[in-house]
Amino acid sequence: MHTYKKILVAIDFSDYGNLVAKQARFITDTFQAELHVIHVLDNIPMPDTPYGALITLDQPSEDLLLQAEKNKFTQICDAMHIAPANRWLIWGVPQEEITRFAMQEKMDLIIVGSHGRHGLTALLGSTAKNVIFHAECDVMTVHLRDDQ
Ligand code: AMP
Repeated sequence: MHTYKKILVAIDFSDYGNLVAKQARFITDTFQAELHVIHVLDNIPMPDTPYGALITLDQPSEDLLLQAEKNKFTQICDAMHIAPANRWLIWGVPQEEITRFAMQEKMDLIIVGSHGRHGLTALLGSTAKNVIFHAECDVMTVHLRDDQ
């Protein structure tokens, strides 16, 4: 048996993000762990940025789309009371960056929603499925339903 000291929650900007965030906070408090939040930018073009690049949150961006994403992410992290050093905005493919980053930062647990922006049609969202398959630590999926 082992406890969880470093927990990474992956947040997209879907309607379900809030539930995933709340559950992550509850699990983190239960284990008295440190909570980190990651959002992977996969929907805006960033030609000069390599995959896996960390996007700084404290500097305003001239790119309006990027600034809008930064603002959304900051709002979510503020509401979750996440320390600035534990907020991670990264450019790339969500499932790849979530697992790579969790490994790099030696996370003990990754929390993802069972579904996200792509809706509830599949049994399990493709991001969740891939993270479960490739992660080297425990993964918890927050089960999301239509009526939540
Ligand atoms: P999906 O595979 O899109 O249905 O998403 C399932 C879950 O993966 C979501 O509830 C989030 O926890 C996570 N996720 C999906 N896309 C992203 C993203 N761009 N950044 C961070 N987490 C994500």
